[in-house]
Amino acid sequence: MKRVYNFGAGPAMLPESVLRRAQEEMLDWRGTGMSLMEIGHRSDCFQNFLYELQKKLIKIIGIPSNYKLLFLSGGGQGQFASIPMNLLGSHKKADYLHSGHWSGLAMEEAKKHAVINSIADCKQYNFYSFPSFEEWKLDKKAAYFYYCPNETLVGLQIKELPEIEVPIVADLTSCIVAEPLNISQFAVAFAATQKNLGQAGVTLVIVREDCLGRALPLTPDIWNYTKQAENNSSANTPPVYAIYFVDLVADWILEQGGVEKLGEVNHRKAQALYHFIDQSHFYHNAVDQRYRSITNIIFTLPSEAQTKNFLKEAEAAQFVNLKGHRKIGGARISLFNAVTEKMVAELIDFMKVFMNRH
Ligand SMILES: *Cc1c(COP(=O)(O)O)cnc(C)c1O
Repeated sequence: MKRVYNFGAGPAMLPESVLRRAQEEMLDWRGTGMSLMEIGHRSDCFQNFLYELQKKLIKIIGIPSNYKLLFLSGGGQGQFASIPMNLLGSHKKADYLHSGHWSGLAMEEAKKHAVINSIADCKQYNFYSFPSFEEWKLDKKAAYFYYCPNETLVGLQIKELPEIEVPIVADLTSCIVAEPLNISQFAVAFAATQKNLGQAGVTLVIVREDCLGRALPLTPDIWNYTKQAENNSSANTPPVYAIYFVDLVADWILEQGGVEKLGEVNHRKAQALYHFIDQSHFYHNAVDQRYRSITNIIFTLPSEAQTKNFLKEAEAAQFVNLKGHRKIGGARISLFNAVTEKMVAELIDFMKVFMNRH
């Protein structure tokens, strides 16, 4: 068997021990004589499992007690639609920060339901930086303010916000459990789990209780936060196996010493790469230093041909999924939690050798 070094942006690499545990538990999950996929979602067994998992995630992520934690289908983009449907209430407007691909798609989806105010647009900086807070045109009457703290495509990350008086909504898909986050600043936060929390198929939605009960009548029940909160995310059959993987990853996170420890490791990983790229004068990362992501790092080489060659040689050396997103080209390294410091060191060595040869 061979396992490559996977620097993909999602679905992302999973820790080997997690995959092995899934393999071991496949035929007989915790003495039930069944796989978890075959267990009824309304059984005490599954409901208790879900309850225990919620407790684990509340501890790991640091979710305050006035929030509900939901496990919903439809991926990250399902939430692009769910957010306006659940939060507009009688409002007609919402504020969006356009910082890249994912917040852009969320805006487009929300336009089906409300007047969307793009309060600041990073497009003028090619999505490599942000307009200053003074330039943000926040609306005090907006139903909510929406943003994506870590734009995965370019690796543009914003850690601070100006003072915002309306409920704040965050797409945490590519930054959850990468480092500690202050959840209490959000009214709603969500994360599809195929980046740092497991596999595709389920999205964690963290909703402050005062945001429940506002859903538009057209909201499908399966995406109605209030209905799903009342039914412990089991209003319909939840994606049980995807949720199971979140549980395996949650145990792994605890074994690693929690999010604080992972955050320290992640900062070292990113630091090592940015440092190498910046001093190389061969590889180039164009993102404003103040907003560089600790998880997704893009770079270009001096020529298109060299980029192509680099990706080919990297793959042959078992460093896979380094290709930049089809929208922007170049190369991209994603440093999700399963990527170790050793892998990063070996990748840097490879990049050095490639550079010296070219
Ligand atoms: C990957 C990603 C998504 C997409 O989620 P899907 O589950 O594919 O719909 C959304 N937001 C961010 C920030 C992402 O990185």
